[in-house]
Amino acid sequence: MDNGMIRKYQKAKMYAEERNRFKFQSFTVEIDGTNNPHHVTYDAGTWQCDCDYFIGRGECTHTMALEMILKDMLDLVEA
Ligand SMILES: [Zn+2]
Repeated sequence: MDNGMIRKYQKAKMYAEERNRFKFQSFTVEIDGTNNPHHVTYDAGTWQCDCDYFIGRGECTHTMALEMILKDMLDLVEA
């Protein structure tokens, strides 16, 4: 790596440690559930999951697990 690239790498490392700089806007994740895989989408603060529990509740173990992983990196809409 040349010096320019080393400086970029160091800055990237600093950004990666400052998680609250990042705000995920939208994404889709497949979660390997206990019985079946589940598909979760997140778009502008709104969750969707294809599991039965999510229907009518608006949250489930899959969305809660993602909130734990992505803590401080989501713009969550207050319910
Ligand atoms: Zn779910």
